[in-house]
Amino acid sequence: MQLVFATNNLNKLKEVQSLIPDHIKLLSLKDIGCFEDVPETQLTIEGNAVQKAEYIKEHYGYDCFADDTGLEVEALHGEPGVFSARYAGEQRNANDNTNKLLENLSSQSNRNAQFKTVIALHLNENTETFTGICKGEITKEKHGEGGFGYDPVFKAEGYHKTFAEITLEEKNKIGHRGKAVQQLIQFLESHKNSS
Ligand code: IMP
Repeated sequence: MQLVFATNNLNKLKEVQSLIPDHIKLLSLKDIGCFEDVPETQLTIEGNAVQKAEYIKEHYGYDCFADDTGLEVEALHGEPGVFSARYAGEQRNANDNTNKLLENLSSQSNRNAQFKTVIALHLNENTETFTGICKGEITKEKHGEGGFGYDPVFKAEGYHKTFAEITLEEKNKIGHRGKAVQQLIQFLESHKNSS
């Protein structure tokens, strides 16, 4: 089976590719000749995921899944949430975003936060969504060189290291995207013979 993963983020592609069974061949946006910015103009994480998956089906004709992720911080009433990528501005710079987050939390003792990923799958004219959540807290400083985005300041519940300090395998096991991808895989496996 061939499926498009609607992303240009090589980190994400690598993460998800390492989880997907071999019989599902993942195609990137580049592989299908999509070099435009796929619109994500909705006000919710779920809305953006569905919008991206349906856009690819409509404009390129491929069955497709798309993900959207946000970091929801309790003391900031769920911010940056759907605006996680552009928290510090349209330059979408991970370092700027992380610095802004640390600054906004500098006087807060409540550091609780969660990553939320929604994957929308458009397959055989139907759209399904799968949600993965990883609870944790925001550290006071950045730690680690691995991962991407907010990884250097996010520690999952029960962990002493940030996402930027653990291996990709560990992150996939406990992480938001890993959990959503597992649900996607289960769905694809149970619908293997109906497509
Ligand atoms: P997207 O919807 O996956 O593009 O993610 C939105 C924002 O959340 C971007 O700024 C990403 O850097 C950040 N983000 C997404 N997934 C992760 C993650 O696994 N770790 C850290 N930051 C992430």
